[in-house]
Amino acid sequence: MSAKIISGNEVSQQLKDEMKEEVVKLKAQGLQPCLAVILVGEDPASRVYVSNKKKSCEYIGITSLESRLPAETTTEELLQVIDGYNKDKSVHGILCQLPLPKHIPETKILRSILPEKDVDCFHPFNVGLISIGEVRFLPCTPAGVIELIKRGGFETSGKDVVILGRSNIVGRPLSNMLDQRNMNATVTVCHTKTKNLKERCASADIIIAAMGVPEFLKGDMVKDGAVVIDVGINRVDAPGTEKGFKLVGDVAFDEVKEKAAAITPVPGGVGPMTIAMLMKNTLTAAKETMK
Ligand code: NAP
Repeated sequence: MSAKIISGNEVSQQLKDEMKEEVVKLKAQGLQPCLAVILVGEDPASRVYVSNKKKSCEYIGITSLESRLPAETTTEELLQVIDGYNKDKSVHGILCQLPLPKHIPETKILRSILPEKDVDCFHPFNVGLISIGEVRFLPCTPAGVIELIKRGGFETSGKDVVILGRSNIVGRPLSNMLDQRNMNATVTVCHTKTKNLKERCASADIIIAAMGVPEFLKGDMVKDGAVVIDVGINRVDAPGTEKGFKLVGDVAFDEVKEKAAAITPVPGGVGPMTIAMLMKNTLTAAKETMK
């Protein structure tokens, strides 16, 4: 058996097309959704992410504002920029691109964004809402994972899900989301101290790998017919190629696709979904202002 490939490129495009239509309707009702993105410093990967977010906004019809600040920006200066966007009624979502320069405390910055404009869903208030099943926003990468499972045509209710990784960005919120009453999965979260990890994976109906370990999940760790979602993005050497490196996930794709019912590729799987879900949160934030 060879697995169905769940394409994040295709699903994210579908979502963006749906949102584009929705924005036309919102504009007709006098609502112009707007996302403000703040980039501090010159990190090359962050610049690419920010420019991709801008392109998605343009495609969907969301206004995108951008503050590009120098690496030596102080915490106070950054807080002032955020405060300006917090007070600006025409701005619905605020995103501060991570990582920040080392001298700026990330936690303090993320908590200064008003929860109702926190479209990355990193504010403890919004994280807490998920835990009690009163969702305002969903964090973008975990929401992308769940959308891929759903749009891939797979059910989570009653399924055993193993999540590899317990980070606050991926594994932890995913577990919070999947065992809520609307998803009804039974979740096991694994980390570096987990015993019998191989056996746990081999009995799972759905495995979500978010560890940052290249090709960790091998074919013999997956049961026949499992659904495998690969969040990992790892750069590994690829001598002789144009760039000298390639991107691989946390899943040994070629082996696992022979056993799984469905699998996401890297690149082109979870990656493109993250921005699509950010756009969705921005529309949610904008629509909230009409209530
Ligand atoms: P992270 O903060 O480094 O967390 C990694 C988690 O994996 C930790 O909980 C760690 O356990 C666990 N882990 C690492 N090695 C392990 C091992 N050998 N056995 C068992 N558990 C192990 O990573 P992250 O930020 O969640 O990111 C994970 C991966 O997803 C990375 O490749 C990242 O690039 C990718 N990512 C992709 C997207 C996207 O597609 N848009 C977004 C975010 C992240 P401990 O807690 O015990 O240390």
